[in-house]
Amino acid sequence: TTKDGPPHVAMLATPGMGHLIPLAELAKRLAARHGATATLLTFASTASATQRAFLATLPPSVSHETLPPADLSDLPHDALVETRMSVEGTRSLPALATILAELKRTTRLVAFVTDLFGIDAFDAARDAGVGRRCLFFPGSLHALMLPPPPPPPPELVVSIPGEFRDLTEPVRLPGCVPIPGPDVLSPLQDRSSPAFGVMVHLAERFLDAHDILVNSFDAVEPEVATVIRQPKPGRPPVYPVGPLILKADSTSDASDTAPQPPRPASLEWLDRQPPKSVIFISFGSGGALPAEQMRGLTLGLEISEQRFLWVVRSPSDEGSLSSNYYDSETKKDPFAYLPEGFVERTKDMGLVVPSWAPQIEVLSHEATGGFLTHCGWNSTLESLVHGVPMVEWPLYAEQRLNAVMLSEGVGAAIRLPEMKEKETIAAAVRELMAGEAKGAAVRAKVAELKMAAAEGLREGGAATAALDGVVENWAGEN
Ligand code: UDP
Repeated sequence: TTKDGPPHVAMLATPGMGHLIPLAELAKRLAARHGATATLLTFASTASATQRAFLATLPPSVSHETLPPADLSDLPHDALVETRMSVEGTRSLPALATILAELKRTTRLVAFVTDLFGIDAFDAARDAGVGRRCLFFPGSLHALMLPPPPPPPPELVVSIPGEFRDLTEPVRLPGCVPIPGPDVLSPLQDRSSPAFGVMVHLAERFLDAHDILVNSFDAVEPEVATVIRQPKPGRPPVYPVGPLILKADSTSDASDTAPQPPRPASLEWLDRQPPKSVIFISFGSGGALPAEQMRGLTLGLEISEQRFLWVVRSPSDEGSLSSNYYDSETKKDPFAYLPEGFVERTKDMGLVVPSWAPQIEVLSHEATGGFLTHCGWNSTLESLVHGVPMVEWPLYAEQRLNAVMLSEGVGAAIRLPEMKEKETIAAAVRELMAGEAKGAAVRAKVAELKMAAAEGLREGGAATAALDGVVENWAGEN
C-alpha cells in the first residue's frame, strides 16, 4: 500500500519566489538524500509565468498543487505584503485541510513544512493528523532572533517602549551584530500597523513548531549560530540546513530530449565579457527603485566605468510594491524611465534587461565579479555560494537587517550610505570590483564563505547533519 511507500512531506510556500525556491530545494534534497517525496502547495495569487516556469522544472519526486483562490478584495489597496500573505493564508486553511487529509490518506505523510507566513496552517495540519509540523524559516538566524523566539509575548517588542526607528542605541541580541533601530525589519517599524500585529503573531506561533529549519549556515553568522544551537526550554530545536539555493543547471534539465530554449540574451552578453569584470544589479522578485534613485544609479554606473548587467523594473513610485512582488513581470516598459541616451551611451559597458534575469546562471558565470543587491536572503545566499562579493542597497522587509549583518558582521559586503548619490554609488562599485582596501577584504571573505557553504553541504558537513537530525525526528511518523 501507499503506507509502505516513501516518506512524504507536504510543503506550503506562501507568495514570493524567495519562499518557493528554497522550499523546492529542500524537497529535492529530502528526495535525493532520504528517498522522500513531496507535494509543494502554492497560492493561486502567485500563479505568475515565472512561477509556472519554475514549477515545470521540478523532478518527479516533487509534485505540485495550487490552492483554490481566496477572496482578498476587501483588503485595502496599500496593504503590506506581510498582511496580504497572512490573510490569504488564513482564508485558504479549509482548502488546505482537505488537501492534507487526502495526502494523509494516500501517502506516508510524515511531516508538514511551511514557511513563516503559513504558520497558521499548523492547525490544518494537526486537524488532518499530520504528526510533525515544521517551520522552514527562509531568512537568516539574525532575522529569526528578531523578534526573538518567544515565550510570548516576544520579549523585545515588550521591552522597547517606542518605535524601533527612534532608538538611539542599536538593538543587542545574544550572538547578533548590533542592529541600529531603523535596520530592524520594516513590518516591525510601525506598531499601529496591521503588519506589526501579523509579525508578532507569527513569532508567537514559532513555539508550535516541532522543528525549525533555517536557510542559513554557521560561517555567515557564527556567533548567533552557536547561541541558537544551545537548546532553550520551551523553544523548538533550530536546524541551520542552508544554504539551500537553486542549482545553476536545474532550470534546463526538466527533460533532456525536449528542445532547449535559446540562451538568454543576458548570458550571451556575459559570455563576451572578461572574467570577473561585470557587476550584476538586481532587487529580487519584487524590488524596484523610486524614479529619483533609479536615475542616480544610472549616473553612478556611468561614472564607475565598470561593466554592468542590470535587471531594470519600472520605478516603485509607479505601482504598488505588492503587485510587483506577486508578479515581477512589470506591466510598464521600464526602459522608458531610463535617462535619454543611457542605453546607447553605455552599450559597450553594460546590458539592461527588463524585469527578470536567470540570476543563478548570472551569479555562477565567470564574467560576474560583483552583485549590487537588495539583500534579499536568497540573493545573499546565492551570491555567497558562488563567491560573488556584494554592494548593498536594501529596500524593505528584512533586507536592512541582512545588510548590517553582512557588512558590519562577517564583512562580506560594502553597504551604500543612506543618501544614494551618484558619486557614492560609483565609489562603492569601483571599490567592490577593484579596490585594494575594503574591496579586497570583502572579496577575500566571500571566497572563504563560498568554501564554508560547500563544506557544510557535503557528507559529514553541518547542514547535512542538521537535515539528518530533522529527518530522524520524523522517523516515527506515518
Ligand atoms: N530572481 C531571479 N531573477 C531576478 C530576480 C530574482 O532569478 O531577476 C530570484 C533570485 O535568484 C532569488 C529570488 O528570485 O532566488 C529572490 O529572492 P530574495 O530572497 O533574494 O528576494 P525577495 O524576492 O524575497 O525580495
